[in-house]
Amino acid sequence: MMANPNYKAELVGVFGHPVAENPTVVMQEAAFKALNLNWRYLTIEVLPEDLGAAMQGLRAFQMRGINLTIPHKVAVLKYLDVVKPDAALMGAVNTVVRKDDRLIGENTDGKGFMRALVQDAKVDPKGTRVVVLGAGGAARAITVELALAGARQISIVNRSDDRGKTLCNLLNEKTPTSADYIPWTDSFEIPENADILINATSIGLYPNVHQKPEIVYDSLRAGMVVCDVIPTPKTLFLTEAEKHGTKIISGLGMLVYQGAIGFTLWTDLEAPVEPMYRALLDIFNTND
Ligand code: NDP
Repeated sequence: MMANPNYKAELVGVFGHPVAENPTVVMQEAAFKALNLNWRYLTIEVLPEDLGAAMQGLRAFQMRGINLTIPHKVAVLKYLDVVKPDAALMGAVNTVVRKDDRLIGENTDGKGFMRALVQDAKVDPKGTRVVVLGAGGAARAITVELALAGARQISIVNRSDDRGKTLCNLLNEKTPTSADYIPWTDSFEIPENADILINATSIGLYPNVHQKPEIVYDSLRAGMVVCDVIPTPKTLFLTEAEKHGTKIISGLGMLVYQGAIGFTLWTDLEAPVEPMYRALLDIFNTND
């Protein structure tokens, strides 16, 4: 007979709406399997009006933590005991960790981007001029981390003025960087002294894989670093940028690393990045 059986799994997961297409379960379960952990990642549909009840449920089930996705990243703040400083600056939390009866909010999106930029691509953002297309949640998370890492100037290029200006004001008022807003036109030329260009819009996201941001691609020059948040190995945006001799960084690394950072926050273990990456790559290749 087996001694001291333990059939109870540790639970984490994601609250979202709609949530069915969120792929995070695939990479977190791959990580649990690789380290032989009896943990489960649950993909849970939570309506906006039920978020408070869901957070109570998280406590009641003694879950170890939760990811938040659309539309809960901002609304969740009022249910937390602690919000980490950079997540508080962004005003958004994508990862909650339960330590005893305290719920702690973090944002790993920008940190995941930074790890792909600094660790994998060996790009030091200190002192750089960065141009960011988009001003939504991803842009906000990335630019706050870049500003805190010493980026000298951040230009926000966005379709709607109000969102673009709001992000600029946040960066200027709350971080050491200098931010400016540039309204987006189809003839947008990348400033000659830009070091890093980032697509932080949803243009190119599956199933719209044949779309790319309309910019003047001939204004790109060799030596620039061009990044995409869209989590596929190579978007049309990056394909076009590569033709101009730029160094490219896909959004897949950002996705894996934001999950890897969350995994470590929950388990206190180093995340097995390779199996997580391979699991995601498998599903993206299946979707193509
Ligand atoms: P939001 O909805 O918050 O923001 C979307 C942004 O894209 C806005 O700035 C919006 O401009 C802009 N945009 C959308 N469509 C167009 C268009 N046709 N022309 C010009 N601008 C456009 O989304 P998120 O910031 O949360 O997500 C953005 C992308 O980032 C998504 O594709 C998501 O999958 C990806 N992402 C990737 C992560 C990763 O780990 N790789 C992590 C998080 C997000 P406007 O303000 O004018 O509406």
